[in-house]
Amino acid sequence: MSGLAVVIEDDEAIGALVGAYLEQAGFNVVRECTGKAGLDAVERRQPRFVVLDLGLPDLDGFELCRQLRGTGDIPILILTARDEEADRIIGLELGADDYLTKPFSPRELVARVRAILRRAEPVPPESQVIEVGELRLDLRSRSVTIAGSKVALRTLEFELLVELARHAGHVATRDRLLDRVWGMSFAGGTRTVDVHVAQLRKKLGRPEMIQTVRGVGYRILEGQVPQDA
Ligand code: CA
Repeated sequence: MSGLAVVIEDDEAIGALVGAYLEQAGFNVVRECTGKAGLDAVERRQPRFVVLDLGLPDLDGFELCRQLRGTGDIPILILTARDEEADRIIGLELGADDYLTKPFSPRELVARVRAILRRAEPVPPESQVIEVGELRLDLRSRSVTIAGSKVALRTLEFELLVELARHAGHVATRDRLLDRVWGMSFAGGTRTVDVHVAQLRKKLGRPEMIQTVRGVGYRILEGQVPQDA
């Protein structure tokens, strides 16, 4: 993923952490510590999305959210220390696209950002379905069928399958899969990929479809090439 993110957060440590993770996920990041500077940055830079801490020293977070909404259709992810349901609802009613309650995992933040951007920028119709042999992925309904039978997958399994299927026939390294599906490489994490691939194979009922490329990663194949008659 790419594009500019504006992070408005007065807590230096949290701002730095969020910035680092978003940069690792491929975004350029502008950090601001006050609502006013944040609003200016959004108006000037027109970022792809905004991460907004509700508890800022100068402006009320809700008011700021309202003003940010006024600058256009830029997706907003709210960070909040307040856990009250009312706050959540108000935040979303104000036009925020999602929120995270502190403390949150930076990896989850990246995952939420990806989800927001996917929703904000719908893929054109022709690329909403990916087919590999008898496997069919519908990105809009997030449904998977194999030879017409529905396969129930968990979120990460689906994301992993999409990533493999987008590059059918080509090897995806474990690191690339970690980066694309989980949002970053985390220590000792490639085992996570292996576990999820094993699950996928089981659920698809076609273990041979996802090939292991030893020491490198995985590759999804259309199956056997039909013989000429
Ligand atoms: Ca704060």
